[in-house]
Amino acid sequence: MAVNTEAYQTVKQELDAKQVTLVAVSKTKPVEDIVELYDSGHRDFGENYVQELVDKQAALPKDIRWHFIGHLQSNKVKYIAPFVQLIHGVDSLKLLKEINKEAGKNNRIIDVLLQVHIAQEETKFGLNEEELNLIIQEFENLKMTNVRVCGLMGMASFSDDLEKVRSEFRYLKMLFNKSADKFTIHPSPFTILSMGMSGDYKVAVEEGSTMVRIGSLLFGARNSSK
Ligand SMILES: *Cc1c(COP(=O)(O)O)cnc(C)c1O
Repeated sequence: MAVNTEAYQTVKQELDAKQVTLVAVSKTKPVEDIVELYDSGHRDFGENYVQELVDKQAALPKDIRWHFIGHLQSNKVKYIAPFVQLIHGVDSLKLLKEINKEAGKNNRIIDVLLQVHIAQEETKFGLNEEELNLIIQEFENLKMTNVRVCGLMGMASFSDDLEKVRSEFRYLKMLFNKSADKFTIHPSPFTILSMGMSGDYKVAVEEGSTMVRIGSLLFGARNSSK
């Protein structure tokens, strides 16, 4: 069996006790693996690549909640807009506007998270604090009606130094609290803090994560560096 159901049950229990949502990251893994977790009751799955997500969505039960956790190009929003549950990696106003437009075409309101750059690595996508504040301000000014900004997402440094990782999560949580104060709508939809992966989710939860994205711990290591 490809799925580590024992690890799944352990992690799931641990997270349920703290009311943290588990997104099972199934990128590069076959639909059979997803079905296996689906059959044990899991519904939240995360994917990084648009084409792969579209193919899997077509092949699998329609009550799966699909999270797009990769870097999304504006010209590809249209492919996932009809069904996506939550887009985690929004890091530009251009992308936010495009999601709003495509959601409108589909008569939907799409939930998104803004991605903040918290790691030391240069290669990771995401906003800095100033850019984050600007996007939130613009979002409020433009009155986009088909997109809801529901929180923040971040990836910590790829490092064994868990204290470093902890301080990055703590910083993201601080930005999350500050940002939440800026939303004038009541009740505020700004409630999700997506942080934590296989190697660092425990630290993330300790620092206030409400949603973790876990792949290799559940599905085994991936073949490529994807
Ligand atoms: C791949 C990926 C994950 C899951 O990583 P694991 O280390 O396998 O748990 C989480 N978040 C994002 C954005 C990813 O790309």
